[in-house]
Amino acid sequence: MARFNRILLKLSGESLQGKQGHGIDPERLNDYARQVKEIHDLGVQIGIVIGGGNIFRGLQGAGKGFDRVKGDQMGMLATVINSLALSSALTAIGCKNRVLTAIRMEPIGEFYTKWRAIEALEQGEVVIMSCGTGSPYFTTDTGSSLRGIEIEADVMLKGTRVDGVYTADPEKDPTATKFDEITYDEVLDRQLRVMDLSATVMCRENGLPIYVFNMDVVGNLRRVIDGEPIGTLVKA
Ligand code: UDP
Repeated sequence: MARFNRILLKLSGESLQGKQGHGIDPERLNDYARQVKEIHDLGVQIGIVIGGGNIFRGLQGAGKGFDRVKGDQMGMLATVINSLALSSALTAIGCKNRVLTAIRMEPIGEFYTKWRAIEALEQGEVVIMSCGTGSPYFTTDTGSSLRGIEIEADVMLKGTRVDGVYTADPEKDPTATKFDEITYDEVLDRQLRVMDLSATVMCRENGLPIYVFNMDVVGNLRRVIDGEPIGTLVKA
């Protein structure tokens, strides 16, 4: 019996680059798809929000003279590209799934509503919710908080390339230590960059726990579902 009935899985676009350093690494993509299928087979209902940082980020564009809103729209379209790639990889291994878009673009995906997402989850489909929130000036972290709350997920699993929340950035500070558990308030007070501020506040206001773990190690998603303490739990 899995620990969670319904989860929101946040995948970073940047991690999709894998060893290539840009775009979509098929190896990483297929690893992600297999990990998702593994827990889907256990009966877990899975909503996924995927980033677009491997392709485009609005803020980076703004630094190069792009209009911020158009840049963010480009970023949201990048999440659609990643969502379609993941959908394709899931379908290839026999895992039923559906892409919803927060911006209308049929026939690429159906327009997102909470009820459409829940209906598909209850029918046993993995639901990939693309375009983040559908609005500029947000990130897919905020998009996943929002979707996690809307679909009434038990937890948001934030798959990253580090294995949890640290006192400082472990990629920069070798003395940084990992938390097994931490409160939303402590994350905010210490200004830990687990997720952006608005996403963390949203989870706190709506009581959505966040579990941060390293998704780039194959098998870790299953380990989280099995209750192995491999990451960091953020809660009240
Ligand atoms: N974005 C946006 N609104 C949203 C979600 C995303 O405008 O609700 C844009 C924003 O420009 C962002 C880009 O899409 O930089 C890609 O998303 P993100 O940076 O969150 O991707 P990740 O870092 O997870 O790869």
